[in-house]
Amino acid sequence: MKATRVWSLLLLAVGVTAGVLAQPAPQPQDEEYARLVKEWTTRPEFLSPLVDHLPKANGVPTPKDVLGYYAGAPKHLTRVADLNRYYRALAAASKRVKVLSAGFTDENRECLITAISDEDTIRNLDTYRGYLAKLADPRGLNEAEAKRIIAQAKPIYLFTGGLHSAETGPPEMLMELAYRLAVDESPLYDQIRRNVIVMMTNAAEPDGRDRYVDWYYRYKIGEETEADRVAGPPYWGKYILHDNNRDINYSQVTMRNWLKFYLEWHPPVMHDLHESEPFMYTFSGQAPQNPTLDPILYGELPWFSNFEMTRMISYGMPGVWTHAFVDMWSPGYLGFMSSNHNGMLRMYEIFGNGGANTMKRTIDAPAGEGGGPPGGGGSMTAREWYRPLPPYKEVV
Ligand SMILES: [Zn+2]
Repeated sequence: MKATRVWSLLLLAVGVTAGVLAQPAPQPQDEEYARLVKEWTTRPEFLSPLVDHLPKANGVPTPKDVLGYYAGAPKHLTRVADLNRYYRALAAASKRVKVLSAGFTDENRECLITAISDEDTIRNLDTYRGYLAKLADPRGLNEAEAKRIIAQAKPIYLFTGGLHSAETGPPEMLMELAYRLAVDESPLYDQIRRNVIVMMTNAAEPDGRDRYVDWYYRYKIGEETEADRVAGPPYWGKYILHDNNRDINYSQVTMRNWLKFYLEWHPPVMHDLHESEPFMYTFSGQAPQNPTLDPILYGELPWFSNFEMTRMISYGMPGVWTHAFVDMWSPGYLGFMSSNHNGMLRMYEIFGNGGANTMKRTIDAPAGEGGGPPGGGGSMTAREWYRPLPPYKEVV
């Protein structure tokens, strides 16, 4: 073993011991947040220990400090200009955050990406971009050079939220996640910042975001029951609705912006956030599987989704499942730009009401009729190997 390696192991051992001996003072917490998130969450088991509190950090604004309300507050949805205003305020206040423009939409809204990592990584973001670019196109690299770059590189984990404009939650949630990633000093967040560069879209369909938010405030904000629910606008983007996530040829300006960003930054993981299934589905890349992709991908996808399902069940959270919904055949999803370049498309579906209202919902529809996946077999609320703690038949 080389001397430098021994030294780094010794330093690591000292660091770990020092960490145990010198417990840092607990971070101050936003007491109002803790009270309200509990009040707004309709059952205790729907709240995880990761988000039942919000740390405070001197001089770094929460979404509420900028917008006047907490991300996810009842009957509040945020327009693109305000999403951008929040991310820019966060980046101005924290050296762990940087915003990057990915271009403009048909209707001249900005496609914004926010990057969060530790201070040193953000300061040297272009160096890290260079590492991923070399690995993405390794022509001219020999094995030793590739290994050296891999040892220094950090993966970019890119969240895309709000591609489907009626699925309103992710662009709200991502603001709060960005804040947590920037300020939370707990070991979990420290580990993420040291090892990963997290990136996120403001809204993956910015024109549709504003059109839908306008529609929500005009037609949907008064909805109280399932029977009150009205349809959304006929188009989200300027020319396209739900099939912005089937734009296999990148015909849309906004989708081309994201592709251009992808080809500049090469995020190995693109994680697309949707809302259609109770209570949370995590994509496992089930068959039929696209045979042109690396077989390793088909080992990794269920590894991630089973880890998440297991972890969330361990928190007592019901309705988290995998398998029996989306297959890994069509290369037309937005995040497939990653899978098509030896990266990974990941996806969540959570349960949404198409707005920011709280209401009672009935879940026990037969498979394939809105409550369950085609070919999923049986009811969404039945216990299966891929759904060990199923959703409830009725939920508020
Ligand atoms: Zn969707």
